[in-house]
Amino acid sequence: MSNHLNDDCIFCKIINGEIPSFKILETELNYVFLDIGPTAEGHTLIIPKYHSNRMDEVPDKYLAEILPLAKKIAKAIGCVDYNILQNNGKIAFQHVFHVHFHVIPKRNEEEGLG
Ligand code: 5GP
Ligand code: ZN
Repeated sequence: MSNHLNDDCIFCKIINGEIPSFKILETELNYVFLDIGPTAEGHTLIIPKYHSNRMDEVPDKYLAEILPLAKKIAKAIGCVDYNILQNNGKIAFQHVFHVHFHVIPKRNEEEGLG
């Protein structure tokens, strides 16, 4: 594991390729993959290649890429409407304690899932 990653973290293991994932893209600083329990087709997660529970502990250079990546993903998925969601802390419904940003497409209900 690189020195910014944590041996006991599932998202660090995904970054490291020890746990399989459906990768969308990666940069030097961030990794982008499909959520295993999508709330809509194309539900994507963006994670910094820097282990931290909390967003306020992630260096700004990682965070600076998140919105540009979200824009690309929304375009690639072909959705106009979408939510960007970041649950930061247990009370805020965070379940995986490696900072992550959800990109969740929102479509008309007649179009099916999401
Ligand atoms: P949270 O509730 O912490 O904001 O979101 C955690 C997200 O990570 C959930 O949407 C969940 O489906 C997703 N997730 C948890 N474990 C895995 C995994 O092993 N692989 C992938 N691709 N997604 C995961
Ligand atoms: Zn981690």
